[in-house]
Amino acid sequence: MVTGNAPTRLRYDGRVAEPEYLICLECETPVYVFEWREGRPTEVVCPVCGNDDPGAFATEDDMEEMSQGAEEADDE
Ligand SMILES: [Zn+2]
Repeated sequence: MVTGNAPTRLRYDGRVAEPEYLICLECETPVYVFEWREGRPTEVVCPVCGNDDPGAFATEDDMEEMSQGAEEADDE
């Protein structure tokens, strides 16, 4: 039996795959309707606060990374 190089988890190679939703950074609302192209949102509008800047939305992965960073910084 050969073990040892098995992938323990699958991750996207970069940020190419379209996420299930984007999160509005203004009000943290998940937005499910958006245009996605080449690893980034091109058109997205938050139905809650009206934010329509694609740069002001994050993917779920982005949010995880951010929250991990926040924990590390111990900012509270
Ligand atoms: Zn919003």
